[in-house]
Amino acid sequence: MKTMDVIDKIKNFETLDLITNANKHSLKEGYDEVTLERALFLSWWCDKGDCSFCYMSTQKNKIKDPKKAKRKVNAILAESELCKRLGWNIEFLSGGYDSFDTDEIKAIATKIFKITGSPVWLNIGITNDLDKYGEEIVGVTGAVEIANPLLHEKICPSKSLSDIGEMLDKAGDLGFKKAITIILGLGESPEDLTYLIQYIKEHKINRVIFYSLNPHKGTIFENSSQPSSIYYAGIVATIRLTFPKIEIICGTWTDNLANIGLLVMSGANGITKFPLFKMFGTRYGKRVEEEIYWTGRKLKGTFTDISKLGSNKSQFDSELDIFIKRYIDESLENKY
Ligand code: SF4
Repeated sequence: MKTMDVIDKIKNFETLDLITNANKHSLKEGYDEVTLERALFLSWWCDKGDCSFCYMSTQKNKIKDPKKAKRKVNAILAESELCKRLGWNIEFLSGGYDSFDTDEIKAIATKIFKITGSPVWLNIGITNDLDKYGEEIVGVTGAVEIANPLLHEKICPSKSLSDIGEMLDKAGDLGFKKAITIILGLGESPEDLTYLIQYIKEHKINRVIFYSLNPHKGTIFENSSQPSSIYYAGIVATIRLTFPKIEIICGTWTDNLANIGLLVMSGANGITKFPLFKMFGTRYGKRVEEEIYWTGRKLKGTFTDISKLGSNKSQFDSELDIFIKRYIDESLENKY
């Protein structure tokens, strides 16, 4: 089906047809398992700090010493060890601009590779240092956020779409996979799918990560609504139908768990954006598993199996013990 026909379907409220088709194609491709993805967050600091939807943009003026906004490396590593135990994938290592330097990120990624057995995706902004990375990295993520060049310039003034594209092309030349992130609800329209599809083709993207807007207090979006579940599903289904082989990850917040089943049927291979330790074992964690169950897929990993949390001691480095214990205690507490 041509892109314009798909856009018309969304605009004519025939999204259910797209979802049904995307579901059939996904199953035909063998996508019968859904992954739980966890972004490992490096720091609260971002030197750009001017993307108008971003929580970090509300923090920049409050942070006096950017070094103190960095997370402790052992906490990041302990989190990766727990992800491994629970069967979660590391979505990527994510950090704002000018927080950790390249050598530090490489060292963290190398240790995570050792802990999880899987090389790591990066989402660390536009960088010229990709050639410093090696086998510890599987791919590079470009934070496109909004696939509409005019809106992009207004919403993310310091990271141009063409610079992101250039970095992704270089990543491809170096043998890394390529991903992009897209946030829905920033003012885009179904017509912007044409640009998004073109961008994916031009930069040979292997993985698309969708999020829905989380309206942060203190940003211009604080009173905006999150996008409708049907609209979100229609966009995802379009990408699945256009690119049967691409990996699609969809983020949804705890207040929108009912999106999950619909997004999986629309073609998502994985889901993300959950507060792992807070939700683990609670009715919210159980709800995620229910959502997957009713799509007829299996879930890789667990949101509820306490036995998988394991020992308070790290299997890799005793310096992680204190954080492993902290995260296990947090997971066992019922926070809701
Ligand atoms: S570059 Fe990334 S972390 Fe920094 S303000 Fe923009 S979205 Fe937020």
